[in-house]
Amino acid sequence: MRIAKREHEDKMREALIAGGGIGGLTAALCLHAHGWDVTVLEKAPDLAEVGAGLQLSPNAMKVFEALGLDGTLAATGFTPDGIEIRMGESGMRLLHAPLGKTSVDRWGSPYLHIHRADLLDCLAQQLDSRAPGALRLGTAVTRYEQDGAGVTAVLETGETLSGDVLIGADGIHSAIRACMLGPDKPAFTGNVAWRAVVPVDRLGADTPPPVACAWMGRGKHAVTYRLRGGALANLVAVVERDDWTTESWTEAGTREEALADFTGWHPIITRLIEEADGLFRWALFDRPPLTTWTDGRVALMGDAAHPMLPFMAQGAAMAIEDAWALAACLCGDTDVPGALTAYQARRHARATAVQAGSRANAKTFHQRTAFGRLKTYGPMWLAGRIAPSIGLMRQDWVYGYDVVADTRP
Ligand code: FAD
Repeated sequence: MRIAKREHEDKMREALIAGGGIGGLTAALCLHAHGWDVTVLEKAPDLAEVGAGLQLSPNAMKVFEALGLDGTLAATGFTPDGIEIRMGESGMRLLHAPLGKTSVDRWGSPYLHIHRADLLDCLAQQLDSRAPGALRLGTAVTRYEQDGAGVTAVLETGETLSGDVLIGADGIHSAIRACMLGPDKPAFTGNVAWRAVVPVDRLGADTPPPVACAWMGRGKHAVTYRLRGGALANLVAVVERDDWTTESWTEAGTREEALADFTGWHPIITRLIEEADGLFRWALFDRPPLTTWTDGRVALMGDAAHPMLPFMAQGAAMAIEDAWALAACLCGDTDVPGALTAYQARRHARATAVQAGSRANAKTFHQRTAFGRLKTYGPMWLAGRIAPSIGLMRQDWVYGYDVVADTRP
């Protein structure tokens, strides 16, 4: 009897994860921490350096604290002093609210800026040391099959791998989602993001302030922040355009095009564009919220389940929260489909609300008319003068959430 139970438990513990991005690698670490064997199937042949930054808000950092990775991430990241909102052309400061220690006091964890490559490196190295050989690169999953006993991932090569659960962490163009719900296409939002990372020693007086700063403009906005102890400056500059729809981290654009998009903007923005070695652009796609994220032993997470515009800097944070919630729901539960249904029930409303908030921020950031600008930025300016903590209060529901505490048995 004991042996039969043991065999059953062993059989329960094999998780396949399609996609080795931020979401998939975090899910592997969370599932491993909750006692699962994990295999991550990543289609890229290597985890090549991605030259862009990421804001890790306190709600995401709580998961990394639970995994014991916060110290390593803090050592390679940058802790911003505050959040700012400025006008893109004049640079006029509408709002400044403190972060740093305030983030820990208010939301229980730090706010961190990190280079994507540093985060991926940290996650992949940790996975390798905790579950050696778990990450299989150059391995694309095309579809899945399942029955009552387990789930099988079918690879591009025709090889099959079986497990007890399959997680689709394969991003906005997810093959797992297509297999689950049928093929469809995310919609181009009419926004293109330029991005660049520049050493601050090239920027002199035009170095961006050591804060997470959003710069507002007509039909466009920019976000600046610092990385790697402050030595690098990161630029994400989003402009409404309908003539370009390639989604990639590595599609190069020209300096002239980027400068033309931000003519007349504050020198902090234009200097970043001028000094960047490479300027890359990313067409922003969106998808209406899905009603279903699970099918039996298969679940979607991160951008595969709920892609979102980067206007709240929460896409990766939601994937990281999903990762913890998935593992917590699967922990100790022998009914995998039931555990996955519980995972969706726990996550759907929050992810959908953040998706909606990100979409709404596009309007706030890109006000085109004088009336719209006055109506939107006037109260911000006033709040910045009389009660800057309003800026923090508005983030409480996002940054203050603790998925680790929320899923504790
Ligand atoms: P992805 O990062 O897309 O990873 C999916 C992985 O799956 C990839 O490695 C891919 O190669 C692999 N894959 C795809 N198909 C297959 C397959 N068939 N088989 C196997 N593997 C496959 N979020 C934040 O929280 N903070 C920010 O500051 C922030 N800034 C952003 C700025 C910009 C300009 C953009 C565009 C996004 C930003 N985001 C931010 C959002 C964030 O980058 C994404 O939400 C996050 O990367 C999603 O992670 P993921 O693991 O779900 O998907």
